Amino acid sequence: MMGKVRSKIDIRLPESATAGDVWAQFRQVERITMELTQSYKYSLGKVSRFFIALENRRFLATRCPRCGKVYAPPRPLCPNCLSVTDWVELSGQGVVKTYSVLHFSPGSNDDVRALETPYVLAYVLLDGADTLFPHLLKAPPEQVRSGMRVAVAFSDEPVSHPIHLMYFVPIRGQ
Ligand SMILES: [Zn+2]
Repeated sequence: MMGKVRSKIDIRLPESATAGDVWAQFRQVERITMELTQSYKYSLGKVSRFFIALENRRFLATRCPRCGKVYAPPRPLCPNCLSVTDWVELSGQGVVKTYSVLHFSPGSNDDVRALETPYVLAYVLLDGADTLFPHLLKAPPEQVRSGMRVAVAFSDEPVSHPIHLMYFVPIRGQ
């Protein structure tokens, strides 16, 4: 019987299966669907400017003024020589160094929408950068190759986190 609880499922083992079972009276199991939605403030911290730039369809990285290494994703501090970095703008074009094809997406509710599977997580070396940027590459998995040229594309869809304002796409004709 369905009461006020959603998605109620009763599972009771047949008596023949529980003969002599001291837990027999506790074999009826009810499972219900509970919903959990949390809103909270989250600081994007020292790399906030990166995300503000994404909202303005620009792609920023940071560059160490001492050793010259360029970090994409940005790092406020150079791990190589511990200098505070400077913001630099990149073209957003780069090359796929390696990638994974994923057949599972963790999204499970309206807040975190599941991606259509399979999808591609690419590690992209952006032109002018020294580090790999792992992110969604929107392309048919069978067409993705290491070495292919890609570019940052920007989304105008409402997103739960500004990192989802960007994704990679193949550069056509290459
Ligand atoms: Zn440095």
